[in-house]
Amino acid sequence: MMISRAAPDPDQPVVLPRSEHSISRKRIDENTLKVLYRLKRQGHKAYLVGGSVRDLLLNRIPKDFDVGTDATPNQVKKIFRNCFLVGRRFRLAHIRFGGNQVVEVATFRRKAVSEDLPEDSAEHHLVVENVFGTPAEDAFRRDFTINALFYDVASFSVLDFVGGLDDLENRRIRAIGDPLVRFVEDPVRMLRALEFAARLDFSLDEEVREAIYRRAPLIAEAAPARLREEVMELFRHRVGGKVLRSARNIGLIGHLLAGYEGDDETFDLLERVDARTSQGREVNESFVLAALYLSRFRRTCPCTGETSVSDAIRIAGLVISPHVSYFRISHGIRHQARELLIGFFRLSRGLGFRGEKRFLRHPLTPLSLELFTLWTEVSGEGKDLPLSWKKALEGLEDGGERPAAKRRDSRPRRRNAGRGKKSPS
Ligand code: ATP
Ligand code: MG
Repeated sequence: MMISRAAPDPDQPVVLPRSEHSISRKRIDENTLKVLYRLKRQGHKAYLVGGSVRDLLLNRIPKDFDVGTDATPNQVKKIFRNCFLVGRRFRLAHIRFGGNQVVEVATFRRKAVSEDLPEDSAEHHLVVENVFGTPAEDAFRRDFTINALFYDVASFSVLDFVGGLDDLENRRIRAIGDPLVRFVEDPVRMLRALEFAARLDFSLDEEVREAIYRRAPLIAEAAPARLREEVMELFRHRVGGKVLRSARNIGLIGHLLAGYEGDDETFDLLERVDARTSQGREVNESFVLAALYLSRFRRTCPCTGETSVSDAIRIAGLVISPHVSYFRISHGIRHQARELLIGFFRLSRGLGFRGEKRFLRHPLTPLSLELFTLWTEVSGEGKDLPLSWKKALEGLEDGGERPAAKRRDSRPRRRNAGRGKKSPS
């Protein structure tokens, strides 16, 4: 990809013709292509927009394909029988295909600022994003230059209003406009900057880095539910460890995660969690939560024979408590995360303690063992233990002692033996 041109004119895109880029229609989802062609045949502009253009240019497989058009949602609805309009603030068209596939079509829009609203309206000072706009305006409302490229199905060319092609070539995350302003408008963009840098192995533009330093505290104002989802998204993309480490280095992490302070061992562990996801294991929130707070748990609760299981249960609950309250995490996930930490405690003590058989039969023990194994890899401690525990678990299977549903041992047990539940009195 050879690009040489003058500084971008806000209304005139740099056009990269078909002969000069690598996007082949074979790599575009079939139904999305149908939608693009149909809109074009009806006389509308029809572009592939957002992350898919970026990924195609980088020879990566896009996660999803979004369509931008100058047709209004109602016009789109008239063109496609299988079309449903969704969204309240901004109407989007969902075009449904077989196999549960949906192609999302959004009308080009611009960032409406307060001047567009009557001075006495309640929204006068709010920045809203619900006004139709031109393709150029649609590009400028986006977050980073590499996310604002368009692929025009009429000419098969790539349109660049914001200098995104340069930044793709230089592997750089650059904000559209002044990042100090853009991060005030939406502080979650700071986390997105770190996410794209990690996912694509790009570097942060100096202005973006500086702006994150300065605006970091604002991220705490974003809705906790949104932050929670964004953080889990990092782990689904297998960059949780890397992004949270850079969030720590840039001073964002405490504002992002309710006062969280990570240490290097934790970020190493989280990177192992990501590597585990890359191997095809599912990552869920309780596992991430347990990994995030494992180091703090270990510092507060020495995993030795001196500490009682009931102390471990209490401390496990305490260390995750600020996080679960802030993010309003459900009882089920909270319970599982705590069980994983208690499992970790039992596993690191080693074999031969009371309540071991019952612990081995606990449905979460295999998952605790996975977490424990990752931790031994990171810390270099207790390296032989995972294998011994694995054998003990297999021995349980060979011995035919299946998790007996209602069976209760006749021997009296220590209180709260590994389950965090009170024994029935
Ligand atoms: P992914 O591969 O994760 O889907 P993506 O770039 O498609 O990456 P999305 O979150 O799906 O990201 O958003 C689609 C597009 O919408 C982005 O490419 C960007 O242009 C725009 N966008 C998303 N979030 C924001 C935001 N917070 N501010 C401005 N523009 C945004
Ligand atoms: Mg996307």
